[in-house]
Amino acid sequence: MGCLVQPFSLFVNQSSHELLFLLFVQKKSMAKIGINIATGSLQQQEMIVGIDLGTTNSLVAIIHPESRKPVVLKEHDGNALVPSVIHFGEAGLVSVGDEAKKYLVAEPHNTIFSVKRLMGKSYNDVRDYSSFFTYKVIDDNSESLVKVQVGDTFYSPIELSSYILKELKARAEHILKTPVTKAVITVPAYFNDAQRQATRDAGRLAGLDVLRIVNEPTAASLAYGLGLRNDETKTIAVYDLGGGTFDISVLRITGGIFEVLSTNGDTYLGGDDFDRAITQYWSAKLGLTDEELNANKNIAQELRLLAEEAKKQLSSTIEFKGSIAGEELVLTREEFEKLAKPFVDRTIQCCKNAMQDAQLSITDIDEVVMVGGSTRVPLAKKSVAEFFGRALHDSLNPDEVVALGAAVQADILAGNNKDFLLLDITPLSLGIETMGGLMDVLIPRNSKIPSKAGRQYTTQKDGQPGMRISVYQGERDLVKDNRKLAEFNLTGIPGMPAGLPKVEISFLVNADGILVVKAKELRSGVEQTIEVKPQYGLTDEEVEKMLLDSITHAKEDIKTRALVEAQTEAQQILDTTRLFVEKNKTFLLQEEIEITEASMKDLAQKMSSTDKDAIQAAIEKLNDISRPYAERLMDHAISTAMKGKSITE
Ligand code: AMP
Repeated sequence: MGCLVQPFSLFVNQSSHELLFLLFVQKKSMAKIGINIATGSLQQQEMIVGIDLGTTNSLVAIIHPESRKPVVLKEHDGNALVPSVIHFGEAGLVSVGDEAKKYLVAEPHNTIFSVKRLMGKSYNDVRDYSSFFTYKVIDDNSESLVKVQVGDTFYSPIELSSYILKELKARAEHILKTPVTKAVITVPAYFNDAQRQATRDAGRLAGLDVLRIVNEPTAASLAYGLGLRNDETKTIAVYDLGGGTFDISVLRITGGIFEVLSTNGDTYLGGDDFDRAITQYWSAKLGLTDEELNANKNIAQELRLLAEEAKKQLSSTIEFKGSIAGEELVLTREEFEKLAKPFVDRTIQCCKNAMQDAQLSITDIDEVVMVGGSTRVPLAKKSVAEFFGRALHDSLNPDEVVALGAAVQADILAGNNKDFLLLDITPLSLGIETMGGLMDVLIPRNSKIPSKAGRQYTTQKDGQPGMRISVYQGERDLVKDNRKLAEFNLTGIPGMPAGLPKVEISFLVNADGILVVKAKELRSGVEQTIEVKPQYGLTDEEVEKMLLDSITHAKEDIKTRALVEAQTEAQQILDTTRLFVEKNKTFLLQEEIEITEASMKDLAQKMSSTDKDAIQAAIEKLNDISRPYAERLMDHAISTAMKGKSITE
């Protein structure tokens, strides 16, 4: 963030009715008439698809133009699920889905799964789970966002997710025989701002205009028709047990507006645990030790696959019979339920926590919706029905329910569902300029109005007395390609070292579409507020052009953003390393100082290039060099501090 003190400037206001007018015109001018070759029907609007971008599997759904019912898109083989797996093969060949899944065991380093777990996460966030990932997640001791290294290339989770979305887009276009450029994508209710923004960016990179990011439990409720009546007030529990994750969300719908009252769950609990429990049970029966299983990966893999088959079959039968290497294996429903019970009990404990957080009692829940493949397990159904004391919504395919709901939401946005009230939304994203001229979005486009968002920033230089806050509107990654709405200065920040001030910038778009921007330094209480008209001077064609530009330039924009972020990270690491070496010179070996300086020089050189992978690699190298002596000095500092002190507890 720049520290230049510039004269305060403000934009001229326009009529407060402009926003609603603009949205109306925009919709009219974007309407196109097309023919859907698959169904032979005329399409008034371009098809907007609903996408469930899952941790394990992803899928696309639409509202069928004739039946007006949500349907998932299936290939000729009847398969709707696309495994969320990406394989990087030889000669730059990338495959996604079932094809990529084949390489999970044989090529773990270049076959990427569970990308969703990395979206919007920093290195520190995923450190504890690093053994879960069989590919290389860069574990730098910093707050920066994670990257995945495949060969010599560094991929952001956004880029990786965009491969999955591109595949889904291509599939949908193949099935529908029409271009697909607009989508609604679902995310877990607990996803934070950064994770939602990352999902939006992934869509954009895949060539999709992401009209809205919808919470998965909201989508699941919509699929069951809950919340589609404007006069309805209901409290809903959505129980989502997938392959590797469990989420419980408590929602309240009032007049078509969904509010998340609480979420709870376990990001490492799901059907995979059932499979593992069966595998262990059978290995014990076969007299196989862990060492033997580790040594014989083929048997272990076969056992795991058979265990999953048994589990699935036991959802509709009471006994499973199979065999491995000539040995018969049997599992009854009763035996399976004993194995599954501890895991199901953990989900019920999460439900209790969610109810407590929402400050509700069981009788307050009006509806219970079941989502995720593992809710087919009869024990899970029985336990949830018993806990909530009511019948469950489980008639739809639990793998498809989120995508179906996303299609319902897409249809509402397309204006096809006239009975449903559409909330006013912000037509373009609103954000501020951050280091390197990057756009940091606070309120994404299509957020409902009124809308509020805030984020904390800090100073870059010691004793920095002020901050220039530049407000922009648009979808591009660099502010220079967006539209500047306002600029003002927060002055009077008391002298503090760089990074210490906490400047909270909050955006509020009120019911009239007026944006109020407030900047407050939390330690000193200094603050400044301005009002802006977000739509100032924009015609509907201009809004449309800005949206199209963001898609056309997505690839180069995201590349530029990644480069600027790598350069910024490099600068920060250079600054801190320089300071550290200066301060601790006496504790370092001459050899360490020399090798560090050489590595810093190399990084400084690479920084001015346009090769983000080379910058990233140089950052890694410098970190690898400084980590051992930084840790040594830390240990030394701790032992010095502890000397002479006795530990009493
Ligand atoms: P999801 O992540 O929602 O796609 O759920 C996938 C999980 O559902 C995997 O653990 C599957 O083994 C599990 N699953 C799929 N079908 C069944 C079934 N019929 N009975 C029990 N679990 C199932």
